[in-house]
Amino acid sequence: MSNVSESPSISWYEDFLGVAYRYFDIRMNIVLMFNENKPARDLWYETMHWWNDHTIKIRFVETGDDYWFVMGADSRRPDTNKYFYKILEKSGNYERFKKGHQGSAYMRFGIYTRDIKKVKNDALCDCGHRKDDHDENNACLYEICDCTKFDTFQLNILKKKKVVTNIKFLSEDDVKDDALAWNCLNRNKYSKTN
Ligand SMILES: [Zn+2]
Ligand SMILES: [Zn+2]
Repeated sequence: MSNVSESPSISWYEDFLGVAYRYFDIRMNIVLMFNENKPARDLWYETMHWWNDHTIKIRFVETGDDYWFVMGADSRRPDTNKYFYKILEKSGNYERFKKGHQGSAYMRFGIYTRDIKKVKNDALCDCGHRKDDHDENNACLYEICDCTKFDTFQLNILKKKKVVTNIKFLSEDDVKDDALAWNCLNRNKYSKTN
């Protein structure tokens, strides 16, 4: 551990909903999800906007059924820079990203909503049927379906993006050899005493 030291100046940010993995464009997309448009855009212009793409690092530290998403970069505005982390449950999309990313990804922000007034008629309900297959009380019209309430989500992916080419999947044993992952877990896990 002698080659890595904790950087107390790093400001860690975890106030986002989670991470989505989407497959379009040339590269896979890592989408940090937020509830609200304006705060997300403000955060982008305060932090990511000043990141140099080639310095962006993303680490996935696997701990059993969960993983730590850890992301940081050098900024042309170091005083307002932030690093990001979130403890997330492994999912099918995560596993697909892990298998298929081929060493690079686009990183973007997205706005997540469950507000059914904002989604289109062809949006799929959690029951698998379209919004317009549900009646005015939001119950599904398919007789075989016992869905009583239309429920869905929509992810509006913002256009701004960064190219990330430094991506690593680590186990917790590897963390001490990786400065970014070590800084994150040391600060947000090992230093916390309950
Ligand atoms: Zn249904
Ligand atoms: Zn339904």
